[in-house]
Amino acid sequence: MNIQAVVFDLDDTLISEKQYVTSGFRVVSRFVSDRFGIDESAVFDTLHQLFAADSKRVFNRMFEELRIPYQEDDIRRLIELYRNHNPQIEFFDDVIPCLTYLRNHGVKTGVITDGYKVTQWKKLKAVSAEIWFDHIIVTDELGKDFWKPHPYPFELMAEKLGVQFNQMMYVGDNPEKDFYIRSVYPVITVRIVRDGSIYAKKPYYCGVKENFKIESMHELKGANFVGS
Ligand SMILES: [Mg+2]
Repeated sequence: MNIQAVVFDLDDTLISEKQYVTSGFRVVSRFVSDRFGIDESAVFDTLHQLFAADSKRVFNRMFEELRIPYQEDDIRRLIELYRNHNPQIEFFDDVIPCLTYLRNHGVKTGVITDGYKVTQWKKLKAVSAEIWFDHIIVTDELGKDFWKPHPYPFELMAEKLGVQFNQMMYVGDNPEKDFYIRSVYPVITVRIVRDGSIYAKKPYYCGVKENFKIESMHELKGANFVGS
């Protein structure tokens, strides 16, 4: 393979979605504690337990579980707080060594991420992503229609980095959106399987699987992948 650029997904590829959720729940717990006079750790623990069982309507269920009367406005406020908070998150341990390796081998790097633009940029800023990547695309800025697996953000990335599709590798974790691109363009797709990733059990979009599967970014280094 002649890989000139490696492009990454963000959530559960470069950073832990669980770490982000924990960070958001901390901010929400503090707010609910101040506002409703409930012990902060009780709110935090409740949020975690409810989220572990089911990620939907967690804030509504938290109020119900703690027997706090609430209105839709309270839910909106908590969602806004959560999505707009400055998260306490870090790259996974294997990320910086991998990015350093790629840079030292003259390989360009990028990020293509879905999710609300404000939220995704807060995450990217929290890890100083702009220092580490040649180009970052938050698909939400292109419009909701262009979230992955739409090929447009990949076209844009190849153009920005000045590489052909067959010189580009995309590393992600989510079978519903990260590997389908290889059925449109000859992008090499790599699935990273990390412990506890939220989307690990999702089905492949249109049945399109990755080219390669890895468990750590360290596996991207070396003769079989990049920079031999
Ligand atoms: Mg992901």
